[in-house]
Amino acid sequence: MLPIERRQQLLKWLNDEGSLAISEISSRLQVSEMTVYRDIKPLIQEEVIIKTSGGISLAPITKVSPNTCIYCLKEMNSRHPVQIITHDLKVEQLCCPHCGLLRYKDIKQHVSQIICRDFLQNSTISAKMAYYLMDADFNLNCCQPQVLTFESLKQAEQFQKGFGGVVLRFEEAIEEIQKKMNGFTGCSCEK
Ligand SMILES: [Zn+2]
Ligand SMILES: [Zn+2]
Repeated sequence: MLPIERRQQLLKWLNDEGSLAISEISSRLQVSEMTVYRDIKPLIQEEVIIKTSGGISLAPITKVSPNTCIYCLKEMNSRHPVQIITHDLKVEQLCCPHCGLLRYKDIKQHVSQIICRDFLQNSTISAKMAYYLMDADFNLNCCQPQVLTFESLKQAEQFQKGFGGVVLRFEEAIEEIQKKMNGFTGCSCEK
């Protein structure tokens, strides 16, 4: 495995499992702990991951927050940011799932990870695994058409019962947003 492949594998594990001990990573990747430290050094410098008492974990989204959304250029003050990590380890911040999905579509081939927040629990989840509730009667005060992200289908459906809308998967949500934007680029939101 190349270092870049090990890093991608590592980010995937961290995304799925939260945090990992260096010894665990070294045995899973079958490389020395020295090599693991060398692999993670750039990730720590880029603030993609952080050292914890037990090993390493993904940096909380808020820690790496420049002030504007890379897609719509609005100020980032949303409770529902999306983070994209590219193969060359650049971290991009998007104000909400709307911008996250549109940005993903634009740079798809460069994306290593796309991470969003569960709407109810605010936990970090992989956007590709999330469920998207569109057209719900609940205003995030960010970009339109808006989508709410949920980790579990059950919770998405419960929320849908109260607030309406339609539950979509990742690719479907991208398609729907595009359709609704009707060929416009950028956001139809108020600045
Ligand atoms: Zn935005
Ligand atoms: Zn937004």
